Amino acid sequence: NMQGDGFEAHVQAGQKVEAGQLLLSFDLEKVLRGAASLRTPVLLLQSDSYSLQRVCAEGVVSFDEVIFEVHRVSKDEQAGAAADLPATEMAEESHSRTVVIGLKHGIHARPAAGLIAAIKELDARVSLAYGGQTADLRSPVALMSLSTERGARVTVNASGPDALRALDVVAAGLEPLADGETVPEEQEHDKPDAANEPQEPIPAGTVLRALPASPGLGQGTAFSLRQSTSSSSVSTGTPEEERDALDAAVERVRAYLSELAAADGETGADIARAHLALLDDPLVVDRAHELVEQGLAAGAAWQRAVKDAITMLSRLEDPRMRERADDLKDIDLRVQRVLVGEDPRQAFELPHQAIVLAENLLPSQLLEMDRSRLAGICLAAGGVTSHVAILAIAMNVPMLVAAGEQVLAIEAGSDLLLDAELGELEVGPQAEAAERFAARIDDAKRLGQMEAGAARQPCFTRDDVQIHIHANIASAADAQSAVECGAEGCGLLRTEFLFMDRVHAPDLEEQLRVYRDVSSALGDRSLVVRTLDAGGDKPISYIQQAPEENPALGVRGIRLSLAHRGLLETQLQALLQLDHPQPVRVMIPMISSVEEVEEVKDVLARLGFDASDAQLKLGVMIETPAAALISDRLSQMVDFFSIGTNDLAQYTLCMDRGEPSLARSFDTLHPAVLRLIRQTAKAADRAGVPVAVCGAAAGDPVAAPLLLGLGIRELSMPAGLIARQKAHLRKISTVECEELASTALELGSARAVRELVREFLMA
Ligand code: PEP
Ligand code: MG
Repeated sequence: NMQGDGFEAHVQAGQKVEAGQLLLSFDLEKVLRGAASLRTPVLLLQSDSYSLQRVCAEGVVSFDEVIFEVHRVSKDEQAGAAADLPATEMAEESHSRTVVIGLKHGIHARPAAGLIAAIKELDARVSLAYGGQTADLRSPVALMSLSTERGARVTVNASGPDALRALDVVAAGLEPLADGETVPEEQEHDKPDAANEPQEPIPAGTVLRALPASPGLGQGTAFSLRQSTSSSSVSTGTPEEERDALDAAVERVRAYLSELAAADGETGADIARAHLALLDDPLVVDRAHELVEQGLAAGAAWQRAVKDAITMLSRLEDPRMRERADDLKDIDLRVQRVLVGEDPRQAFELPHQAIVLAENLLPSQLLEMDRSRLAGICLAAGGVTSHVAILAIAMNVPMLVAAGEQVLAIEAGSDLLLDAELGELEVGPQAEAAERFAARIDDAKRLGQMEAGAARQPCFTRDDVQIHIHANIASAADAQSAVECGAEGCGLLRTEFLFMDRVHAPDLEEQLRVYRDVSSALGDRSLVVRTLDAGGDKPISYIQQAPEENPALGVRGIRLSLAHRGLLETQLQALLQLDHPQPVRVMIPMISSVEEVEEVKDVLARLGFDASDAQLKLGVMIETPAAALISDRLSQMVDFFSIGTNDLAQYTLCMDRGEPSLARSFDTLHPAVLRLIRQTAKAADRAGVPVAVCGAAAGDPVAAPLLLGLGIRELSMPAGLIARQKAHLRKISTVECEELASTALELGSARAVRELVREFLMA
């Protein structure tokens, strides 16, 4: 943080050193003046089990002086300490009471703080026991780490003169159930599942709005998927027996997943491989064993260990990481099924033309459904970037997400029309509406065949304007399928894949090899390579990063690359050496100032890049409002722009793009985002700099006419969406789109914009 001022290095980076060798010296005076603070707070959280000893006197200490030592208190010492207590305290009995938690989300931060405050004035020592763990009521962290949920039965222990009063206070704080409300016996470890709660039925003719996650139309019969939450939470054997049962179940699931993973080329083999890795994750396996040792049954221990891992993932900023939580739930369900004597494969008795309705769906559940009976999926929750959404696109199953709880109230067997183009689900349609929809499906099928045939042709709008369609890829295999799907080139190579899940960064040779593979798969098509877009939310184990309060606003994208020049230099060096038939277009992510571009240019210059050399073009992603607002300045410095609508919407709307509770409001078509796109497109046009869109909006048929109307002529999207989007664009005219866009820019919400485009497309 002091930029090295006051510090003197005695060795070079990369130099081999010996134990005892002087590495660094520093000027204490300078540090004193330059550092924000010299205080180091030390918190001792378990004061029963540890004590401070050899504590020095308060005041100034000299260098090397021991301030204190922390010692573990042995069991005997703890007993001895109890023996030293005054006779009155010794004589006091301890009391306990079992309490069922009525708090909706268990003991989280607020209730924990409330409980602590409530007993503060009482003379009592209180602890809570649950799931083999005990938490002192003075520690909010310990209370929260019990991971209690509504319905959990906890034991409250209290001792001291006010013990009974404390029990009453704590019980009252934990049990705020509404009048007459009860918690069923079995719910100790089961999360109440909204999908299983009775709801008012939805009247016929209702149209629910949702987000299209996989495009297409589906007409069929409602099939409600009730998620099983059963778990063998009642201990049935000794810890050894439970551990053996758990290991055998895991082994059985492993064998099943290995079979799936070996089915090379099959959709889902990749997912099965990912699940296999999770099944061996020590974080889950060791934790489950530990819980079994503490007396939990195999099923309960596994469920709890998986849940802990999910809690850890859910704290991460990256939605893709958070969505891995679904994969964990998936392996939990399989192990639970085996433990109760069922097959690891879940059998679904789908009716003909089923439209599956569920709170959420796991990737394996989709894979195990009979595709020939599946007409569509509509989820109450879910996200458009989830694994199951990617899978649905690959399987060509129309899917809506974030439809809200109402979807769970649709009666099984109801007739449904699922429109994953416009984002609508109609319940119990009139005969006429159903017929019209069936005709649309027939048209769409015919069209689909034609689209696939025309996917490799160039794309011109009705008024003969060429729209360049590129693919977003992450590997050489993706590049291959992008070409097959009709991509004119790669509009975004996400290079993160090359840097993640490993112990050190790929060296120059490895990077060059991978980029060459991508290049040769693309042939003479264009190639845009984005430099590493990691950091904060997408941590890379071998890059040291301080924990951040707001990783999405922290050191990520180009900020991280500039802070770790070595990484950036190696990547740029590899790209400079890449020999592609067209100039390699290097794109910098998360730009928010001209200085960042200048710094990248300096690095390129140091690597010997001559700006007049046509072999490498430099571009930036416009994905922060700052970049869009200074796009006129940026356009003077670079060769191309690509608008990352996912992050641009996230930062403009101040909404986490992966937050499930905001999924229905997070919408790139918000007029504020559209205005930034327009500003960028205008700046690019004035400077003669090509501008593309590579965020999810590029593949969205509703967004397409707006983007065209705002002046965008190049779109980059997942390869699977190319055929449909090309066909869609061929039907619209840029002149009409311009009118549409200028009306949209004057509206006040994304919802109003969607409504406008809906009418436009219907017309
Ligand atoms: C974007 O933000 O729109 C984008 C394309 O980048 P990513 O989704 O990889 O953040
Ligand atoms: Mg982005």
